[in-house]
Amino acid sequence: MNTLEQLNKTAGMIVNSRPAYREILDFYKEVFRVQEESLKDIRLPPVIIEPDLLKIKQKNELPLIDPSEFLIDLKAAVQTFEDICELAAELAPGLSSNARFLKKAVSEKAFDPESLFSAILNGHDKTLQDIAQLLDVPLNELSLFGYLSISPSIRVCAEQLETYLSGMPELQKGYCPVCGNLPDMAFLDMEGRQHLNCSFCCHKWKSGRMGCVFCRNNEKDMQHYFFNEEEKEYQVKLCDHCKRFIKLVDLRQMDREFFPNLEKIATLHLDIQAREKGYINEGNEKA
Ligand SMILES: [Zn+2]
Ligand SMILES: [Zn+2]
Repeated sequence: MNTLEQLNKTAGMIVNSRPAYREILDFYKEVFRVQEESLKDIRLPPVIIEPDLLKIKQKNELPLIDPSEFLIDLKAAVQTFEDICELAAELAPGLSSNARFLKKAVSEKAFDPESLFSAILNGHDKTLQDIAQLLDVPLNELSLFGYLSISPSIRVCAEQLETYLSGMPELQKGYCPVCGNLPDMAFLDMEGRQHLNCSFCCHKWKSGRMGCVFCRNNEKDMQHYFFNEEEKEYQVKLCDHCKRFIKLVDLRQMDREFFPNLEKIATLHLDIQAREKGYINEGNEKA
C-alpha cells in the first residue's frame, strides 16, 4: 500500500470510531493528498550552514535556522494554494466562500500569494493583518491556506537540514532543533521512547519522557495528565508550571498507521478539553 492509500485507510478507521470527524477529515485527507503530490514537484537547493556557524549553534543549543530561512518553491506553493482553495470550496462549508474568492483573486492576479507566504515565514503579523483586511478574509483562514501551501517546501527543507543534526547530542529543549518552533504533539514509539513533532516544519525529535516538554519542570505536583477511557491511544500532558499542554499518542496502543497531521486534526476535542481546563499550546493554535 502506498502512502496515499494508507492515509485514506487510516482516515477511514478514525471516522469509523469517531463519526463526528467525517467532514473535517474528508477535507484534510484531500489536503494531505495534494501536499504529498506537491512534494514531487518541489525543486529546492539545500540550505547551507557554514561550519563555524554550525559550531556556535551546537554549542549554544540553538536551532539550525530561523523559520525565515526556509526556502519555498514558489511555483509549487502557488499551485498548492489554488488546489487547497478549490478543495475547501467543495468540502469545507465553513471556508468555502472565502476559498472561492481567494482562488479567483489569485487566478486574476488580484492577489500575489508570495507576499502571504513571505509574511508567514517571517512572522510578520502586521503584514498578514494588512493582507487579510485588504482581501476582507479572516486572518486565521488566510494563514491556514498560506501555511498549508508552503508546508511541503518547508518539509523538504527540514529533511535536508536534518543531516546537520546527525551525531549531535539530543537537544533537551522544548523547541524544534531545526527551526525553533514549538511541538504540537508528542508520541511514544514502539519501544516507549518519547518523540516530539514540530508544529511548523514537521521535524521529529527525541525527548525525555519525564516532566514538561516545554519548560522541563519535573515536580510531581506540577505535572498531570488526562485521557478518555474510550481512546487509550491518547493522553494529554498538562504542566502547572507553564500552563501548557501537549497531546501524546502512544503508538503501542494504536491499531492504525501514524500520520501526525491526521491525528492532530482527529484529536481537536482534546485541545478543547485542555483549553477548558486552562492550558494552552501555541503550536496548535493554527489547526
Ligand atoms: Zn521545526
Ligand atoms: Zn511546563
